[in-house]
Amino acid sequence: MRANILLIYTGGTIGMIKNAQSEALQAFNFEHLLKSIPELKLLNCSIDAVSFDTPIDSSNMNPLHWIHLAKTIENKYTEYDGFVVLHGSDTMSYSASALSFMLEHLNKPVIFTGSQLPIGDLRTDAKENLITSIQLASLQQNNTPVIREVGLYFEYKLYRGNRTTKINADHFEAFASYNFPPLVTSGLKLQVQHDLLLKNFTQDKLKVHTSLDTDIALIKLFPGIQQAALKSILETPNLKGVVLETYGSGNATTEKWFLDLLSSAISKGIHIINVTQCSGGMVQLGHYETSKQMRDMGVISAKDMTTEATITKLMYLLGKRDVKGMFQLVFETSLRGELTEN
Ligand code: ASP
Repeated sequence: MRANILLIYTGGTIGMIKNAQSEALQAFNFEHLLKSIPELKLLNCSIDAVSFDTPIDSSNMNPLHWIHLAKTIENKYTEYDGFVVLHGSDTMSYSASALSFMLEHLNKPVIFTGSQLPIGDLRTDAKENLITSIQLASLQQNNTPVIREVGLYFEYKLYRGNRTTKINADHFEAFASYNFPPLVTSGLKLQVQHDLLLKNFTQDKLKVHTSLDTDIALIKLFPGIQQAALKSILETPNLKGVVLETYGSGNATTEKWFLDLLSSAISKGIHIINVTQCSGGMVQLGHYETSKQMRDMGVISAKDMTTEATITKLMYLLGKRDVKGMFQLVFETSLRGELTEN
């Protein structure tokens, strides 16, 4: 069966051109991008495209854009077999993570991709990234899509979107997924790791969640962090959740002022999520003396989630009314393959 694919262009380097005066790269229009890849016509699928009215550099991406993206997919869900989202690489891991939570019961592929060099550049990585992403979104077995989740394709690898992080601003290999292997590797053939793919064989209809709560903060610990700085963040009006980037397997200073600030925030109903600053590995609260008190006071473990997944999962769960009494349990459970349960 010839798959129907919808390309959604949000902006990013892939479609940018250089401003003649300032020499800065800026978003360009979508027709230019499509014309630059005549190869698209050779693919065995039909491709339609929609574009953000104003394509953006992904540094300007925010939750309202995620809602727009999720609604676009919802509105076109029955018409298309797969979706490819063209997106700047800077915040692509945040958007892919957010969409993975917002699209519940997804049983079609949503593949994020972009490039490090614009499509018009001779040495561009855009063509391979885009063409292979479309092929991945078109993969079918017995007339059903092979990939039924949000993925991120870059430089010959398809990763689970909510496991990725941008690791390099200069190399073509811009993304990594340290805690979960690639779902597909593109060599002479597309090598699909079927056992790693999410098995969304649900009959439930796609459910799109658009209520995201952004009353949250991200705090990265460092030796010498000051009480006044931490206190002022934790006293932010309406604050509902904090992602605390800790050391190693979830460790932090055991100074009294620090633990007192956390415990008073928790007693005010603020959720504190412990995620590691390390690129790989997992938070294990109580493994060291330096995380035991946090566990005892009710700090939540992000386990082996990325910071991007932790932040977007926090926005998503704070926006859901039905998890109130079970917040910690739900947070520490894998909802879309974003963490390893142990
Ligand atoms: N600044 C660009 C963006 O994220 C970088 C890229 O597209 O790779 O939109």
